[in-house]
Amino acid sequence: MPQAPDSVRALAAAYTCGHCNSNTARLAQAEDGMWHIGIEHDDGCPVLNGTVSDIHDTLRALRRSA
Ligand SMILES: [Zn+2]
Repeated sequence: MPQAPDSVRALAAAYTCGHCNSNTARLAQAEDGMWHIGIEHDDGCPVLNGTVSDIHDTLRALRRSA
């Protein structure tokens, strides 16, 4: 499998869930070439079950990784 681009790895390294404090668990590339950053949230995390959006954590990670 090809290695993720620097920008994707930097974003993954900077991501932390604001609710359960989980970090990136894995990176995977889909067949269409899009990279996906998998987060291993704790059981019951409101982000994991969709109660709360992860957009704020994603934006914080983008700012940290820039
Ligand atoms: Zn979480």
